[in-house]
Formats: sequence, C-alpha cells, structure tokens
Amino acid sequence: MSKTKVCANCNGEESLMFRVQYKPGKTWCFLCKPCVNEVKPDNPHYRYGGTWKG
Ligand SMILES: [Zn+2]
Repeated sequence: MSKTKVCANCNGEESLMFRVQYKPGKTWCFLCKPCVNEVKPDNPHYRYGGTWKG
C-alpha cells in the first residue's frame, strides 16, 4: 500500500505530491498535480522543491 499526503489546496489525498511554495511567506507545502497546474501560472511566489512519492 502506498502512503498518501493531503494536498494543502484541495485536501485530496494523493500518493504523488509536489513540494512547492505558492504563497507569500516561503512556506513549503505539498500539492497534488492538478493544484500545481492551477497555482503555478503567473505566480511570482511559486517555487518547486521536489517530488514526493508515497
Ligand atoms: Zn490538490
């Protein structure tokens, strides 16, 4: 069984998550792929910090 994390944006549980910053304040959080695609465009706060696989 794979581990999951809860997406900080949609609260969905996924086993493939992306560690990103997407808000002011340099807080790292985990987002699922659809949410990364949602928050990334034209986001000056977006920063990619790695991929997590459960
Ligand atoms: Zn999500």
